[in-house]
Amino acid sequence: MTETAAATTEPDVLRLLDEPEAPGAYGDLEPSSPPLIDDEGRVRLSFSRVDTYRNCPTKFRYSYIDRLPGQPGPHLSFGTSIHAALEAFYDRKLPDCPSEEELLGYLYDAWDSSGFAGTSREEQLAFYRHAQDALRRFHRRVAPTYRLPVDTEAWFELPVGDLAIVVGSIDRVDVDEDGELHVIDYKTNRKAKQRRYVAGSLQLAIYALACEHLYGRLPASVSLDFVVAGVEVRVGLDELDLDATRAAVTETAQGVLDARYEPTPNRLCDWCDYRALCPAWEGGAEGEDLLGPAVTELARLRRQVERDVRALRELEAGVEAAGAALRSRGLDPVAPDAARPVADGQAVEPDAAGR
Ligand code: SF4
Repeated sequence: MTETAAATTEPDVLRLLDEPEAPGAYGDLEPSSPPLIDDEGRVRLSFSRVDTYRNCPTKFRYSYIDRLPGQPGPHLSFGTSIHAALEAFYDRKLPDCPSEEELLGYLYDAWDSSGFAGTSREEQLAFYRHAQDALRRFHRRVAPTYRLPVDTEAWFELPVGDLAIVVGSIDRVDVDEDGELHVIDYKTNRKAKQRRYVAGSLQLAIYALACEHLYGRLPASVSLDFVVAGVEVRVGLDELDLDATRAAVTETAQGVLDARYEPTPNRLCDWCDYRALCPAWEGGAEGEDLLGPAVTELARLRRQVERDVRALRELEAGVEAAGAALRSRGLDPVAPDAARPVADGQAVEPDAAGR
């Protein structure tokens, strides 16, 4: 460990930061939703997908096959905001370390309020101040040895055997004076984990393989930087089990291809967004909103579609009216040059789209 945690008095609401990360949190969010199985029959996985399947295949099915949305929460927005601020901090492409004020400015710009819908303004402020404190400590820790990384949020698509492709992004890849690469992943839990947890991290082992895929060589070390606790825990490559990692990915892909989705009750069930739906907890869900966030999301999407349809109709009416006005002046509203008048008796040829 490179630094000990700073002692702070923390508001009660911040205990939410102790909740486990949700599937899909940071690092493996895709801008679009490609099919789970690609054209070559490979299962498209990520660290979170593999981890979720290994914890509970039923949860995997709800999350990635049925695509039922999870419950957004303050701790997810907090983590997203810190990740975005640190990406900007290291992505400036200048040799000098950005100032503390600049880092806090990146946090201000990147602050994600989406998970705070059910909380008070004071609670959101408590999270924001907590994030500021964490980043001030981070700045004090890294500024003296700051150097530009090789990459930030390095996106990878890593084939594993014939059955899987693992996608994701590595928070940061550093290079040292000897040219050795070092993979760093940020965590926003309040407490740092033990060294053996880091050495056994499936995520870091996947990132090590991804590093080799992206840059042609394995990293010398991988680490989890516990930004809130102010501690970076680093382990050497020789402490990772890369063969076991490839096997875990392949087993997950095979399970998905075989459509094996048995519920597996585990210590994370208390935080599971789908517990009210889960057959393993039948009887315990009476009186609960069984579809919970899925129904809320459905209602939101319906409202959005209704708004879009209204906007579409208004635009169609506006275009129609403007077109009629142009035609009444002898102008062709469809031609590339709308100012070109239609010659008397000239037919307007439809274009390739049939307009
Ligand atoms: S409640 Fe537990 S067993 Fe059920 S889907 Fe969630 S993690 Fe799996």
